Amino acid sequence: MGGKGIGGVVRDRLPFLRWSWIRFAVGLPRFIRTGQIGDGREAAARAFVIAHSKVGDPDSVLAAFDDFARNHTMLVNVGDEKGLILDAAIGRAKPRLLLELGAYCGYSAVRAGRDMPDDAKLVSVEFNADNAEIARTVIAQAGLSDRVSVVVGSIGDGGGTVEQLRKEHGFGPGALDFLFIDHEKSVYLSDLRIIKEAGWLHPGSVVVADNVKVPGAPDYLRYMREQEGTSWRTVEHSTHVEYQSLLKDLVLESEYLG
Ligand code: CA
Repeated sequence: MGGKGIGGVVRDRLPFLRWSWIRFAVGLPRFIRTGQIGDGREAAARAFVIAHSKVGDPDSVLAAFDDFARNHTMLVNVGDEKGLILDAAIGRAKPRLLLELGAYCGYSAVRAGRDMPDDAKLVSVEFNADNAEIARTVIAQAGLSDRVSVVVGSIGDGGGTVEQLRKEHGFGPGALDFLFIDHEKSVYLSDLRIIKEAGWLHPGSVVVADNVKVPGAPDYLRYMREQEGTSWRTVEHSTHVEYQSLLKDLVLESEYLG
């Protein structure tokens, strides 16, 4: 959305001068620790999305999120620009079972739920219980609750969440077609290794990882580059950090070769 005047310039070209970005920077340590910024923006996002979208209409839910994050309070969703990369990857992979790491407020779960085939199922793992509740509300608003579930936990918790995915959500040998990684950047690689060890991937499984450049997951990037052509084949999508046009980011789309 093109802005006019100084406010528009700040919004479009210098978003970091906006209060919600400054507040985000201040809240970053807390965000990494707890999964929320600490100023109530996640609950505010839910209220805004519910008020500005139509029940059963994922497009309207996503549009409300994008409006909120771009024009009101910045959110660390994958966002509209990088969302197109996710859409295209799901379109190519035609997955039947999808796993997301990091639901946050449910934006990408709604996006993936909208894009995936009608008979597909998505499970999103979120370590913050309040975020999980927010995500469930917006997933219900989008009319996707029967095919998209949110599990509170983390892949690296010593086995509890992996066991829950096995027992309650049909995760088993070669069952996982699509993985979207968008949670704590320092555990991208270790969580991928746990999933690989669990045997859930099959040749042709696709893994999309957000924020590989900013905030950055350097060990994950190094691993995928080292494994290129042997265990994985990766496309590095050069893009921008969500909801602004200055900071560059990298989204990795990797196909498992077995
Ligand atoms: Ca992200």
